[in-house]
Amino acid sequence: MAKEIRTILGAIEKGGDPSRDDIIALLKTADKNDEKLIFAAADRTRKQYLGNEVHLRGIIEFSNYCVKNCLYCGLRRDNKKLQRYRMTTQEILSAADEGVRAGLKTIVLQSGEDPYFTGDTLSRLITRLKERHDVAVTMSVGDRTKTDYRLMREAGADRYLLKHETADPDLFTKLRPGTVLEERVKRLRWLKELGFQVGSGNMVGLPGQDAGTLADDIMLMRDLNVEMAGIGPFIPNQDTPLAHAKEGKAEAALRVLAVARILLPYTHLPATTALASIHAEGREMALMCGANVIMPDITPVRYKKLYRIYPKKVGTDEEGAAQSIPLISAIIGRSGRSVGTGYGHSPLHEQRRS
Ligand code: SAH
Ligand code: SF4
Repeated sequence: MAKEIRTILGAIEKGGDPSRDDIIALLKTADKNDEKLIFAAADRTRKQYLGNEVHLRGIIEFSNYCVKNCLYCGLRRDNKKLQRYRMTTQEILSAADEGVRAGLKTIVLQSGEDPYFTGDTLSRLITRLKERHDVAVTMSVGDRTKTDYRLMREAGADRYLLKHETADPDLFTKLRPGTVLEERVKRLRWLKELGFQVGSGNMVGLPGQDAGTLADDIMLMRDLNVEMAGIGPFIPNQDTPLAHAKEGKAEAALRVLAVARILLPYTHLPATTALASIHAEGREMALMCGANVIMPDITPVRYKKLYRIYPKKVGTDEEGAAQSIPLISAIIGRSGRSVGTGYGHSPLHEQRRS
């Protein structure tokens, strides 16, 4: 007979190592009471290991050019309908200035895979940002050479976000033509080696994915001991080959988030923008089942409207940090939580350094 959800949760909370089947059971149960138990365990774990603070990471989407052709993403190379942009150094620094004035302690620089920004260019940008402000810097610019990653690290970047997207190697290659999961994971290991706090993550509701794949996603992140994991629903984009695929469900994304929280107690987990984009209460719900990070988009409106990875993106009318931060802070307050006051470095990283 299958184990009861309560039994599986109890064993994990006592420090036990659940089997893949146990994780699948947590992801699959359709019983509402089971769901409540899982969400409550996630919320308890978050509180016990990470406390009540919600860390803000202001994201600047500085280029929507991309050489890759991921089937799910609106920035893909073959999407000729998208008007492309690159922000200038000055524009990037001004957006960061505004973020810092609004109280942010982390700036995330994200883009498509845009070779215009070489390792040198990016490292100069990081250096300037670090000279100007006392902030943590996270980079999210995709697959690069180890030399490029090293340059960014040496320039002072603290963290790197590179979602593994899906732990199913066949699905990975189907969705990201010309690339393999193994290489993506190899890069995550390089980034760790170089001393970055590493963020990975996956999409929920991808066509061809099942509960086993999602269990593998969580187990992979556990193996890699990632400092952060972005887990959000897949949202089909009309201008991609997956235009007619089904949208990921908010409930499913929340379930994966909650189970990830239970199994990765010290990992920073954002209430993702993708979840907030498909559900009006997405952020609040995520904060109640394990999330402890929010990433307000502080890109100037004229650019963020063009950073159209998926449609319906929440917050595209909010101009910069001055408008987005107060709104997000209000959500955090209403959820009975407080906005983080420090850099929000990962406790896993702090442990390794001491
Ligand atoms: N080019 C970089 C970073 C930008 S893409 C990279 O690929 O790593 C940022 C994230 O957007 C991706 O990691 C992916 O998980 C997410 N994403 C792309 N298309 C999406 C979609 N249709 N629905 C939801 N998330 C999507
Ligand atoms: Fe480019 Fe990243 Fe989109 Fe893939 S997911 S097409 S690498 S921006």
